[in-house]
Amino acid sequence: MSDRSKIDYIDASINPLGWGCFGPGGTDREPKRCEYCYAQTIAKRHLRKCRNCNEFVPHWHPEELEKLSHWKKPRRIFVESMGDLFGDWVTSSIPFEVLRQTFYNRQHTYLFLTKNPKRMVREVNEFFFEYDTPRWETTRHWFGTTITNQADAFQRISELWKLHSPNGWLSIEPLLGPIYLRLAGINWVVIGAETGNRKGKVNPDPEWVKDIIEQCRAAGVPVFVKGKIAERFPVQEYPEGWRQREWAGR
Ligand code: SF4
Ligand SMILES: [Zn+2]
Repeated sequence: MSDRSKIDYIDASINPLGWGCFGPGGTDREPKRCEYCYAQTIAKRHLRKCRNCNEFVPHWHPEELEKLSHWKKPRRIFVESMGDLFGDWVTSSIPFEVLRQTFYNRQHTYLFLTKNPKRMVREVNEFFFEYDTPRWETTRHWFGTTITNQADAFQRISELWKLHSPNGWLSIEPLLGPIYLRLAGINWVVIGAETGNRKGKVNPDPEWVKDIIEQCRAAGVPVFVKGKIAERFPVQEYPEGWRQREWAGR
């Protein structure tokens, strides 16, 4: 399978926890996966030679981290696009090891995204402290949280503020309602709609999208609209200093 990512704004993804997730607040005994989970749909459609991946149960794939040193040219890499590296069920040594490898392979830019920013903040701050990482070394690491509605925005953005990193980002995907954002400390916003044909799927009202774009404009934050809603709102801005893609060939 190609390592080239299908996510619009990155070059590649790695999944050191395989394909699998128990969902926000879920456990191995009681998964609480999101109804709209795109990753689980992909896992069902594309069977791999790994039972846990096929059953969407998170597990350790350390060989995914080896890709980082094999890729010599800089890439913009999504870390754990098929799960959540900072879910409460993840063994405590794993986020640390993943962070260690990403700081070791400095040629790339890394995007982390979680629905559990509280744990991400704890893990990342502990890592910074242990490795005495200066702020400038974190500029190629982007730490973000997913929000889909106003309640997420209140809780998760305030957690993200506690991270001592210069690069905070938000993935508003799928957008399920109007959202008022407090964008202090946020350097990039991505907006997307739910994909697939799930019963009960929410198609975002164009006003919700327009309103978020306007909030980003007012705060001077670049915004990237993904997928189908980009047909109506063709706004695809990247953070300052990013090229459209880091890596433009095979
Ligand atoms: S957190 Fe992400 S990967 Fe996990 S169940 Fe929800 S949508 Fe799927
Ligand atoms: Zn697997």
